Amino acid sequence: MDTNDDSPKTNLLGLSKDELSAFFVQMGEKAFRATQVMKWIYQFGVIDFYQMTNLSKKLQQKLDEVACIVPPKVKFKEFSEDGTRKWVFEVAGGSLVETVLIPAEDNKQFGRKTLCVSSQVGCALDCSFCSTGKQGFERDLTASEIIGQLWVANQSYMQGVPPTERQNHVTNVVMMGMGEPLLNYEPVVASMSLMLDDHAFGLSKRRVTLSTSGVVPKMYDLAKDIDVALAISLHAPNDELRNELVPINKKYPLSELIKAAKAYIYDENPRHKKHVTIEYVMLNGVNDSDTHAYELVALLKDLPSKINLIPFNPFPHAPYGRSSNNRIHAFSNILNQAGFVCTVRQTRGDDIDAACGQLVGQVADRTRRAKKWQESILKRQNA
Ligand code: SAH
Ligand code: SF4
Repeated sequence: MDTNDDSPKTNLLGLSKDELSAFFVQMGEKAFRATQVMKWIYQFGVIDFYQMTNLSKKLQQKLDEVACIVPPKVKFKEFSEDGTRKWVFEVAGGSLVETVLIPAEDNKQFGRKTLCVSSQVGCALDCSFCSTGKQGFERDLTASEIIGQLWVANQSYMQGVPPTERQNHVTNVVMMGMGEPLLNYEPVVASMSLMLDDHAFGLSKRRVTLSTSGVVPKMYDLAKDIDVALAISLHAPNDELRNELVPINKKYPLSELIKAAKAYIYDENPRHKKHVTIEYVMLNGVNDSDTHAYELVALLKDLPSKINLIPFNPFPHAPYGRSSNNRIHAFSNILNQAGFVCTVRQTRGDDIDAACGQLVGQVADRTRRAKKWQESILKRQNA
């Protein structure tokens, strides 16, 4: 269980229903208190026990003595004109992580608000086009730090609304912020369970998506443990190129990744989603030719998938450029003609540096890898 940094109190934010029930039983209370408190925390955004009006005064007081509900500390927030919202959190130990909320942009998706949630501080996997990867890995986030990002985002729409009239505003969550979620497995699964739990956020399982660069063994675990939508960061249609762009491919090559993706769809648990989403970042002159598109068609021919092309988001000293709109169009035409549903991700929130892959923004680079990366750039510039 998480405890608050400064006190021995148990932080109830991020505890599963079972953990919270056990907590109440161990206090000599009835287990059903867990679902009452979960509703207060996650549906009404209330973290002061004295405002939980269906608990007795005595229980409120007892809870206040031994427990707390502490969301991650907002260090900085910025709300963009297009409706995008970004938060930088300072989590225990002083590390910074980012969360971005992206609203729907057209009437078809009216009301949709997608929150891009981080799972780690930095990332160990070092994909060559990713600014989080360049930062290196600092630490895993706890379940309360992960679910806390969603709690804070919802809270930003609740100001001035009486507690019991409040409702959640975030409709979709994508685990596509900083970090590789499958390398922080238990806290990520625990957090996603709270996202789906009707006593907590109650999101539909089709609207919670985990994105992975391909940690194959954990994909099999995920299939057993929870039913959420799966996105795979593919980015290259052959092993040679993928080894370069997504180095974890050297450990788990494409044949194994595609096999695990098929197992995720076809395993014995009936799945809501009968396809995976394939993410493919469009890097000018690197992975965006017609030949690459035909290779991709061949690779994915037996995998029910929707393809999402992501125009590359540049960051300082990035060794790549974004493919032109014409190139992206030609690439997606080949995929469409082969029968794939292929969409191009809109780049949103540029004005607050919140577009996908830019999550690091001005977050301090404090790791050795970041230093090495900056040194190598200086060397290249001086050569
Ligand atoms: N680690 C996970 C989830 C976080 S990254 C993963 O790799 O899937 C979320 C998505 O953003 C991934 O598809 C990633 O490849 C993509 N991404 C990273 N850097 C990017 C950049 N500079 N431009 C565009 N997309 C990027
Ligand atoms: Fe990590 Fe994903 Fe970035 Fe790769 S793309 S370095 S896995 S966050």
